[in-house]
Amino acid sequence: MFVQLYNTLTRKKEQVEKPLVRIYSCGPTVYNYAHIGNFRSYIFADILNRTLKLAGYSVEHAMNLTDVDDKTIKGALSLVQENPQKFANLKEALLAYTKPYTEAFFDDLKTLNVTRFDHHPRATEHIPAMLDLVERLIKVGVAYEQDGSVYYRISEKKDYGKLSKIDLDKNKTGTRYNTDEYDKDDIRDFVLWKAESKDGVHWHSNHGDGRPGWHLECSAMIHEIFKGGIDIHTGGVDLIFPHHENEIAQSEAAYGGSFVKLWAHCEHLLVDNRKMSKSLGNFYTLRDLLAQGKKAEVLRYFLLSAHYSQKVNFSEDALHQAEMGVEKFYSLWQKLERFKRHSAEASSTLKTASEGARLSFLTQMADDLNTPRALAVVHEYMREANIFLDSVGMSIAQDDWDEIHKTLLYFDTVLGLIALIPKTEISAEYIKLLDERNAARAAKDFARADAIRDELLEAGYKILDTKTGSHLEKL
Ligand SMILES: [Zn+2]
Repeated sequence: MFVQLYNTLTRKKEQVEKPLVRIYSCGPTVYNYAHIGNFRSYIFADILNRTLKLAGYSVEHAMNLTDVDDKTIKGALSLVQENPQKFANLKEALLAYTKPYTEAFFDDLKTLNVTRFDHHPRATEHIPAMLDLVERLIKVGVAYEQDGSVYYRISEKKDYGKLSKIDLDKNKTGTRYNTDEYDKDDIRDFVLWKAESKDGVHWHSNHGDGRPGWHLECSAMIHEIFKGGIDIHTGGVDLIFPHHENEIAQSEAAYGGSFVKLWAHCEHLLVDNRKMSKSLGNFYTLRDLLAQGKKAEVLRYFLLSAHYSQKVNFSEDALHQAEMGVEKFYSLWQKLERFKRHSAEASSTLKTASEGARLSFLTQMADDLNTPRALAVVHEYMREANIFLDSVGMSIAQDDWDEIHKTLLYFDTVLGLIALIPKTEISAEYIKLLDERNAARAAKDFARADAIRDELLEAGYKILDTKTGSHLEKL
């Protein structure tokens, strides 16, 4: 099946071509812990990746880490102020400042079961590619040097503004912006390479010591990783201008050809109907929420439950809804595990319903990642499966069991909830029984081993035999 995705550039839904899809997603600036709004954007990238694979595409996916920009440099300077003797230079302090946030970012992705992508490039590891891009832009005549910094002259790019549809009448070409972030009302030439004194975070360049501008980083890394243009570029809507607009300007002018076929942007997350901000006191990192007792699987479900193109409101009520959704899914999954299986003939009705549900789920996901509709398919299927299970007592035909199991797993390739089932503490009594069962098996006393297995099942535990040993899983 082909996936259709809304393209911010053309303002319409477009088909993603097969078989290989190269994706670049703007990742975090590692100056702080990522907040729940950031995770909306990362889960969006995750869902896109998973859906494409489910629909039969090959995916090569990169998500960068911005470890040098105005904010991380400010953080590094604060470390040096606290302890001037500790660092030989600011570059070392920059690394020390960003490292814990980089590790926290990967831990948080794991907590929410977000796919680890093929590439997670860090800006500081691609400085030569960035310098090469600066030189190319000067050579083609769209960039100029001023006081050791290099700027992009936006009046040289005739279609500048095509992504964000900004009002170019406000264009102040020839006047410059030296900061990485600025807003739509102030469109000026933007900085590609920023002069830095020897005491600042710097690399050597033809223009003296300096460091890359934020926008330049993504353009250079995309070119270096993918050796050309990409199929899909994702990010939050707040990145459309100026970040993505500037990426287009740089990459198209320097490398020629098509840069990005399809731009996909994910909307904001509001907290209690207001934009998240530190001053309003409604700014939550994932860690804050977990410390408050919120569950990772509920947060993931919540972030999936709204369409990515719509603003979503984070509230206790919405989380409660998400929790009910997760519980229904887990409860069916765990109920299924408790069923005994026999070899009777399978139900053709269940088979047809399961095949239909899998196809409908994929159809909804392939239609611009329509997660609310896909979740509606999941809930309707769970309702039918529960009715079926209630009708057969505690024993089910193996083929019927397989059909339900396969369908839930199919949904989960996108939902990613099963891996987040909370692990509960297992009492010593059951661990002792597991040891006795393993001893019985080793002694080839299979009757005793099976009897213990059944006893554990009665108590609500399933034995998982793996290469690293046997474990108990709560049903
Ligand atoms: Zn970016």
